[in-house]
Order: sequence, then C-alpha cells, then structure tokens
Amino acid sequence: MDLRLLIDGKRVAGQGPTLPTFAPATGALIAEVPSASAGQVDQAVAAAQRAFEPWAFTPPGERARRLLALAAALEARFEDLARVESENAGHPLARVLEDEAHAIIDPFRYFAGVCRAPQGLAASEFVPGATSLIRRDPVGVIGQIVPWNYPLMMATWKIAPALAAGNTVVVKPAEQTPLSLLAAADLFAEHLPPGVFNLVLGDGPAVGAALVAHPDVDMISLTGDVGTGQKVMANAAPGLKRLHLELGGKAPVIVWDDADVDAAVAAVRMAGFYNAGQDCTAACRVFAHRSVYPKVVEGLAHAAQTLRRGPLDDPGTELGPVVSLRQRDRVAGFVERAAALPHGRVVAGGGRPQGPGYWLEPTVVADVGLGDEIVDREVFGPVVSVTPFGDGDDIVGWANATKYGLAASVWTRDVGRAMRAARRLRYGTVWVNTHLVWPSEAPHGGLKHSGVGKEMSVYGYDDYTVVRHVCVDLG
Ligand code: NAD
Repeated sequence: MDLRLLIDGKRVAGQGPTLPTFAPATGALIAEVPSASAGQVDQAVAAAQRAFEPWAFTPPGERARRLLALAAALEARFEDLARVESENAGHPLARVLEDEAHAIIDPFRYFAGVCRAPQGLAASEFVPGATSLIRRDPVGVIGQIVPWNYPLMMATWKIAPALAAGNTVVVKPAEQTPLSLLAAADLFAEHLPPGVFNLVLGDGPAVGAALVAHPDVDMISLTGDVGTGQKVMANAAPGLKRLHLELGGKAPVIVWDDADVDAAVAAVRMAGFYNAGQDCTAACRVFAHRSVYPKVVEGLAHAAQTLRRGPLDDPGTELGPVVSLRQRDRVAGFVERAAALPHGRVVAGGGRPQGPGYWLEPTVVADVGLGDEIVDREVFGPVVSVTPFGDGDDIVGWANATKYGLAASVWTRDVGRAMRAARRLRYGTVWVNTHLVWPSEAPHGGLKHSGVGKEMSVYGYDDYTVVRHVCVDLG
C-alpha cells in the first residue's frame, strides 16, 4: 500500500517519525507509517489555502458532480477498502460491507444535493432604500482530525459536508488507523482539484496540534475524546478558531415496566456491543424498571454470552477485538474495578481471552448505579451496565446526571411518557423503542461535554459555512 501523504494532489513521503500500525485481531505489525513533518503540515495548509478560492467559487452543481463521481469511485473500490478497514480497525468484515458502506459513501451523495439548494432568509428591503442579501459561504481551510473507532466513516462525515460547502480540507486520521484513508487517497486525488483534499499522517500531540495551532487554518473539526476536545479548544483559543467537536458519550437506555423487553434486549445486544462497544452512542448504560429488571439482566447476560467472536472475515462473526492493547487494558480495568465493588455483579463475560490480539469478552455488569465509575464514565468497549429503578425515582433526572449528552434511548409503549422523556433528556439524539439509527438527513452531535456542532444533516452542512450580510443601497 502507498503510505505517503497527499499534498496538493501529489503523494509525498512523510518526513516525520514513523509510527507502527497493528492488526487488532492478531496484534501483528502491519505497517510502519511515516508521519508528516512540521514543514509538511505547513505545505498541506498552504495547498489548501491556494485551492480555496477556486473551489469556493466553483458552482455548486460542479462541486456536486465531483462528489457524486467520488462516491461512485469509493463504491467501486469498497470491497478493497473494507478489507483494509477490517484488518486495521478490527471490525468484522461483513459489518463494514453491509452496514458501514452506506454510512461512509452516502454523505457524498447527500451533501452533493444539499449544496445545490441553500436555505435561508429571502433578500428584502428591511430598511427603506437598501436591499439586504444573506449569503452562506464556506469557512475556508478546515483541519479535520479523525478518531480510530470508525476511521473511514468518521472521516467522510467530516470531509463530505466541508467540501460540498466549498471549503478545502487537511485531514489527519488517527495514528492507530491510518490505512483505510490512505487506501482511498488516490480516489480523492483523482476526483478533486489539487489542494482541495490533503491528507497528513501522524499523532495528536505533534501533527494534530500543529494543525490546530496553524494560523492559516480557519476551523478545526475533531471527533475524539473529551480530554482531546479540551486540549484542542485551548490550543485553538489564541487563533479564535471555529470549532466543531464531536466528543464522548455514555448513552442511557431507559426500559420502563410497559416496554417490549425482548426488543430492548435485542437492541442492546446489537447497539451495546456493535464495533466492540467502541461507539460514542453505544447502548451501554441500561436503566430497567424493577418489575422488568430480572428479565432484562437475564436477557442481556444471554445476549452477551451468545455473541460470536471469530475471524474477522467469517460472515458469522459478530464481535471483533478492541483497537489496541492500551484500549484492551483500559476497558478491562473498568470491568475489574466494577467487579470488585461490594454490590457489582458481573453476569456475563468479564475476562480477557488468552491468545494474540486485543480481544475482550462481551461483559454485562448488573446492580451498579450512579456514582459507580462503570455507570458514570465512558468505557468505550464491549461492556454494558444495568441499574434498577423504581416508581418513585426520577429516572430521566438520573439519565441526565452525567457530563455527556450525545444519545439516549427510551423503551415504553406509552407515547406520552416517551415524548415527556424526549423533551427532558439533555441528549443530541433520543431514540424511542430503537437505538443506533443514523440517517444522513438527521443531525448527530452532542450537548454538554459531548461536543459542539452537528455532523450530517443540513445542520452539519451549516456548521461548515458562515452567514454573511451584503447590503446594497438602491440609490
Ligand atoms: P482521541 O481523542 O485519542 O483521538 C482522536 C484524534 O485526535 C486522533 O486523530 C488523535 O491523533 C487526535 N489528537 C489527540 N490529541 C490531540 C491534540 N492534542 N491535538 C490535536 N489532535 C489530537 O480519541 P480516540 O480515542 O481516537 O477516539 C475515541 C473517542 O472519540 C471516544 O471518546 C469517543 O466517544 C469519541 N467519538 C465521538 C463521536 C461523536 O460523534 N461524538 C464519534 C466517534 C468517537
């Protein structure tokens, strides 16, 4: 594979330190990837700056045509890209091919349409003798910093709206998972003018931070950890940069006494353990009414015990490894501390399977509650907690008692109860009797420490634009 950066339409060898990349399923070293030097980050930003005006003034229909061609090219090559993603990120191949493909490619098609139909106020004479026009223009050069959990998907969720709106981008994948974007880089080069899309590689403290601090980068879009978001915000402050931050989550799943418990359990089996729980909207924090609590705990234990681990290219494999040794030890530490609580009960999993790779048993911890680390903090692994509640408990208040605010789900047959909960839940997404549904048309993004701004939807598009007023004196 070509491990070079993409700057100004050309592949160039990274001149910074080389970083090892591993296959999570086996722990094998699969690539040594040269990072960008500080000078190469400057070159990428300069290329994006040069490309900005021509791209911004390219008619939306022509930008859309290129994005649609890029989507078709990604689709044609998707089987190869999916194999790279599966090996480097540890995702079961069938899940990449059957679920992720649409979420990776569709944003280019969706935003190709959005950019051709700008929304807003009509021009008018708000003051006699002068016409006010509202413009929605691109922001400029965007630094886009991508996490390791869905390397291609989180990248295209950023790249597609930014390019559709007329911005140019310098993208940095996570140091653990650079390979799928590297494998796609030539397609971007082929379908976009030089400098519109640039790819730099490297770690956060060096290359990521250099992008954030760069005086010619107009906006930073990050998906990552809350702590990283705080560092990026501080580092962007001297330049007063626009920020778009998609950070952590700890999704509550409220199961009331009138819920379809089997459906709720089946949803958590999928959405709690999807991508080995390395999903910011994972259904990881279940609150079940006491009358259904034993059934929920038993159902989740069975669900976790029956999830199939196996080779990533086996279509029957449901659960892959976590991304790194560090992540495996971190997640296992959460489980061990929860198991050591006097009241914590591990009802499924809890172990680290022997053998190579970064595998964990899917785990369910029951009888834990607010104030317990496993309930309060983002674990980002295949671990679900279950907490009972009673009639007198303010369960929506409990669900809100967290610094996160990304996604939640409620399970009840009572429409009024669901709507009252949805109104009060301080989460960017509330699902009712479902979990993990992400259409390109709906906004995805958090409140509180889960971040600032939206991915996807027309709101995500707007985040990559600035609103301007042009006022013409009628003479
Ligand atoms: P991370 O914060 O460690 O890394 C994310 C990216 O930030 C990487 O590319 C990394 O190199 C870069 N980075 C790290 N330090 C930096 C710095 N000081 N300056 C600039 N860049 C820096 O996160 P991760 O571990 O890769 O991803 C997991 C996290 O992402 C989880 O907390 C998860 O909840 C969150 N996430 C959020 C969403 C969402 O939409 N809200 C989606 C997916 C993942």
